[in-house]
Amino acid sequence: MKRIGVLTSGGDAPGMNAAVRAVVRTATARGIEVMGVKRGYAGMIDGDFVKLGARDVANTIQRGGTILLTARCKPFMTLEGRERAAKQLRSVGIEGLVVIGGDGSFHGAHFLSVEHGFPVVGVPGTIDNDLFGTDYTIGYDTAVNTALQAIDRIRDTAASHERLFIIEVMGRHAGFIALDVGIAGGAEDVLIPERPETLDEVVEIVRASAAKGKTSSIIIVAEGYEGGGIKVMEAISKATGLDARVSILGHVQRGGSPSARDRILASQMGYGAVEALLKGISDVMIGVVHDKTVHVPLEETWTKRKDVSLELRELAKTLAL
Ligand code: ADP
Repeated sequence: MKRIGVLTSGGDAPGMNAAVRAVVRTATARGIEVMGVKRGYAGMIDGDFVKLGARDVANTIQRGGTILLTARCKPFMTLEGRERAAKQLRSVGIEGLVVIGGDGSFHGAHFLSVEHGFPVVGVPGTIDNDLFGTDYTIGYDTAVNTALQAIDRIRDTAASHERLFIIEVMGRHAGFIALDVGIAGGAEDVLIPERPETLDEVVEIVRASAAKGKTSSIIIVAEGYEGGGIKVMEAISKATGLDARVSILGHVQRGGSPSARDRILASQMGYGAVEALLKGISDVMIGVVHDKTVHVPLEETWTKRKDVSLELRELAKTLAL
C-alpha cells in the first residue's frame, strides 16, 4: 500500500481531529501517503481530496469539530453513488480508507468494502457512545464533561430558586450520556430510552422527593426518552402544579476542545486503523476494550447492541434517595 484516504462523516465529535492526525502521522512514519477526503462521502463522490502531510495536522489535536469537514450524503446510499466514489478513490491511487464516524458512516464503509473489495477500517467517532465493540467512542468523554459543567451551573439556579429543572441531554437511542451525567451531577432521576419508566412513575418520584423536603431537583432526560425534556416537564407541571423548568443542552455538547481521554483514545484508534490496513485487515472497526485495541467486524457494530450498565442504573436510583 502506497496511499490511503481518511475522512470524517456523519455527526462531528470532539477528538475527530486527533484521530485524523494519528492516521496521518502513523501512515507517514510507515512511508505511506495520506489523502484527506473533504465532507465525508459527499467529497468522495466529487473527488474532493487533499494531500495531508505530517505538518498539515500540526496544531489540530486540541481542536473540536473536524478540519476535514463532515456532511450527510444521500447519493452514497445508492449503488451508483458508491461506484462513483470507488472510481474516484482509485483514480487518485487511494488503496485503503479510514472512515471516522458513527454507525451510518460504518454502513457506507461496509458496502464500499463488500461491493468493490475496497479495504476500509472504521474509527468510532460519535458522542453517543452507542456502538457495539468498544468501551468508548471518540467524543463521548468530552460531551459528558461539557454537559456536566452545564448541569452544575443550572443546579446553582435550581437551588437558589428552589425549583425543579428538567435537563435534556443528547442520546436519541441510547442513555449513556444521560446516565453518566446523572450520576456525576447528582440528579434525582435519569430518564433513558432503554428504561421503560412511565411518566406517571416519574411524577410519583417528584412527589415523593418534594414530600421528603427537597426544594430543588434536577432530572436528566435523554432526548430519546418519551418525547424528551419538554414532554417530561409538561407531565410533571400538570400533575403536581410545580414550577418546573426545562433546559435542552443541544449542540453545545458536540463542540469544544477534546478531553485528554478523547485525545488519547483517538490517537490509539487512528494508529490502530493504519496498522490494520497495512496488515490487510478490512471491513472492521477499531475498538478499545479494557485499554486494548481490538478489531470488530463493521456489521457487528450495528447488529449487536451495547447496553448501558445495569449496575450504573441501579446506582443512579439508589443515590437519588
Ligand atoms: P453517523 O455516521 O454519525 O451515524 P449518519 O447516519 O448521518 O451519521 O451517516 C453518515 C453518512 O453515511 C450518510 O450521510 C450516508 O452517506 C452514509 N450512510 C448512512 N447509512 C447508510 C447506509 N445504510 N448505506 C450506505 N451509506 C450510508
